[in-house]
Amino acid sequence: MKKEYYKLFFLTVTTVFLQLIKLNAQQINSAKPNFIIILTDDQGYGDLSTYGNPTIHTPNIDRMAAEGQKWTNFYVAANVCTPSRAGLLTGRLPIRSGMAGTANHRVLFPGSKGGLPANELTIAELLKQNGYYTAHIGKWHLGSQPQYLPTHNGFDYYFGIPYSNDMDLIDSVPYPKAIAEPKNEYFRVPLMRNESVIERPAVQNTLTERYTREAVSVIEKNKNRPFFLYFAHNMPHVPLFPNARFKGRSKRGTYGDIIEEIDWSVGQVLKALKDNGLDKNTCVVFISDNGPWKLFKELGGSSGPLFGAKGNSYEGGVRVPAIFWGRGLVAPRFVAEPGSTLDILPTFLSLAGGKLPQDRILDGYDLSGVLRGKQEKSPRDEFYYYHADVLAGVRKGPYKLLFYSSNSIGYPADFKKLDTPALFNLDEDISESNNIASKHPEVVKALELLAEKHSATVEKVEDQLSK
Ligand code: MG
Repeated sequence: MKKEYYKLFFLTVTTVFLQLIKLNAQQINSAKPNFIIILTDDQGYGDLSTYGNPTIHTPNIDRMAAEGQKWTNFYVAANVCTPSRAGLLTGRLPIRSGMAGTANHRVLFPGSKGGLPANELTIAELLKQNGYYTAHIGKWHLGSQPQYLPTHNGFDYYFGIPYSNDMDLIDSVPYPKAIAEPKNEYFRVPLMRNESVIERPAVQNTLTERYTREAVSVIEKNKNRPFFLYFAHNMPHVPLFPNARFKGRSKRGTYGDIIEEIDWSVGQVLKALKDNGLDKNTCVVFISDNGPWKLFKELGGSSGPLFGAKGNSYEGGVRVPAIFWGRGLVAPRFVAEPGSTLDILPTFLSLAGGKLPQDRILDGYDLSGVLRGKQEKSPRDEFYYYHADVLAGVRKGPYKLLFYSSNSIGYPADFKKLDTPALFNLDEDISESNNIASKHPEVVKALELLAEKHSATVEKVEDQLSK
């Protein structure tokens, strides 16, 4: 009798428990996931402790990597700011949208008349069509004329600087001095809320802290509806303005202090998700927009084991740290498969249950199968390296074929066509130090053919950056 009673009790408890799990799973599945992109500016592949930096301590970013997916072959769409961001937000190579630039106009400047064309569709516009609230905090750099601002590109809210933090330099201070001994008043950069300038020059020492407060507020205010937050730090792009709370903390000097504050900021974002019960239904991506600006020596970052820097098409210019995090959404794993910021748009749309536009060429792949742990291999197996509007190289599998050489620190570009293309096996030679073209003529041929096929899909459009 007693035994029967226990059996019944056990069965009832189990049934109720299973029902609760089912209900909870249904709730999670029916709610669209939230998305957060945290983008840093000019941070290198070797500037985080989880990617091997020995003196910069980034425990919050490291935790994201340990609990989520750390990608080690992840590429941005271009080796400098403006085209890289255009590729990220549209899922299209910037050469297709007129945002690739030319040898002499590689990014937008405060006086530029161009910007991301209105017919381009951003992640924000597409998620908005699927019921998302959208906010952009931080650096924009896709056009500062009124018609090109974030609020005209799918974002419900904007708080940030519309271009780089080293622009709008006053005439009386030469650029090298302004970078070496920066003062806020040297750079007349505007801080904007939506379409209004609220501070000029922006006080940059507290920028990361204020951006973070804004990001946390976006999370808190939108906890009951799906949201997309594009959080793009202006740092660690020079001039480096450390926050008093972080100054002198890192053995790496001011650059390290800046990265450690960004790490603190990541911790605040993750904490806000947890505090608001959103940590199981939010996908957070941490990436950089291009390689480190080595021209500025200790004020710039490190490419780690990679060759090259911001401004060139060696790995150090375009391969960036990329971490995907999201409890219940992202299966923890180390991913050595290729991926790109171009893939974020189709991946988010897939996770949100939305549809991709069919009237244009997209250059991204849906990585959601890999993120969810259902797929071992990345759907991306190739990558096209653009230097402004020129195809500088192509990768397929482990092989990279380079058609041009550049200055290894990126500036001046010194971009020259090679007499014969150089071939590297990136899986075995991460530093591009061993040209194996003469040993593998058949691979060279196959990659040349791939480059030709790709180039045939590119149509001529008006360049926006030289306007
Ligand atoms: Mg940049």
